[in-house]
Amino acid sequence: MHDDTKCLKVPVANGTFASLSVPVHRASTIVFDSVEAYQNRRSAIYDGYSYGLYGTPTARTLENAIAAIEGASRALVLPSGFAAIALTTLTFAAAGQRVLFPDNAYDTVRPFADRFLGRLGIKPLFYDPLIGGNIESLLDSSVQLVWVESPGSMTLEVQDIPAITSACRAKGILTAADNTYATPLRCKPLALGVDISVCAASKYISGHSDVVMGSIAVNDEAIFRQLKDHSRFLGQGVSADEASLVLRGMETMAVRLDRCEQTALSLLDLLVSHEAVREVRHPALSSNPGHVFWMRDFTGSTGLITLFLEPWTAPVLAPAVEAMKQFAIGASWGGTKSVVAVLDQPPLRTATASPHDGPVVRLSIGLEHSDDLAASLQQGLDILLSVRATAKTGK
Ligand SMILES: *Cc1c(COP(=O)(O)O)cnc(C)c1O
Repeated sequence: MHDDTKCLKVPVANGTFASLSVPVHRASTIVFDSVEAYQNRRSAIYDGYSYGLYGTPTARTLENAIAAIEGASRALVLPSGFAAIALTTLTFAAAGQRVLFPDNAYDTVRPFADRFLGRLGIKPLFYDPLIGGNIESLLDSSVQLVWVESPGSMTLEVQDIPAITSACRAKGILTAADNTYATPLRCKPLALGVDISVCAASKYISGHSDVVMGSIAVNDEAIFRQLKDHSRFLGQGVSADEASLVLRGMETMAVRLDRCEQTALSLLDLLVSHEAVREVRHPALSSNPGHVFWMRDFTGSTGLITLFLEPWTAPVLAPAVEAMKQFAIGASWGGTKSVVAVLDQPPLRTATASPHDGPVVRLSIGLEHSDDLAASLQQGLDILLSVRATAKTGK
């Protein structure tokens, strides 16, 4: 053999080797022992391996891990949380039919519904997230899929998921949940009657703000195969490297969530009692919309807090947020480091009114010490109050 060829025909090292961590199996081409096995490769898309895009041992291990915590028989991973939402919607909606979304859905849902689903003739309808069993009045024969998201983006209303899923089941309508806020450790949508549970693994599951991924978990083999087929038709898959990062994040998700939850809870008093804050949203607060459903259906909360500020704080909102040095300004959340996001004004809603007319700020509490976060928040809040003092003295 020439050296040129030796560089390619590398003998794999012998000996048993078992790493405690899940190996990273990078692959586009997957090799087969025989022509027959190669020709049968398409049947391997659901369980075996046929092409790197459709699954590697690393991605399958992650899928099995996610299925286990969701209480699902099957899971698949997608390149982002939104890819999982889009795939689910496109798989189960047809032209001329309706898909229902809660009015507080993740913000990319609305332009996707209006500008993309609309182009395909699929008719989106946004509903009041607190509709509960009254959703029945919206369920005519044109409805094919109903989404829930609980707590919902930014305003954190908790939905009565069992009431919604039982109304949908009675009419044979599929339901899908965006379970990103709670993660499968705090809520198991499939146990509440939901057919399809979706997570943005970019948030708490991966947990370090350095990877984007989505997951879909189901208990029905036919639904799983339809989703898997369509992920292939849309060319969607994940790399083994990123699957490995998510697996690593999952190992500490339970302790991270406990810590984020405890710190968030410890900060609520300071926020609730502050003059510049009109309302605090966090599902553990008895005043949070749908708190009773959270008590009934969830095993805990996480580190997201939304603040509705008094309208008079608007002129100093930017310097106040910028003064909170422990909070990075950014859109995503669920990582180790605390993040603050300022909601676009006004938040777009069509089925319900915006809860408040003042600025809206979302905090994602990370793993920093609660004293440091409290001091940082206090700094921002003091700046908000300064404008009030100025107004009062007429300066
Ligand atoms: C971030 C997020 C998504 C989208 O996830 P990406 O991985 O960023 O695409 C979907 N739903 C919710 C509730 C989210 O917070």
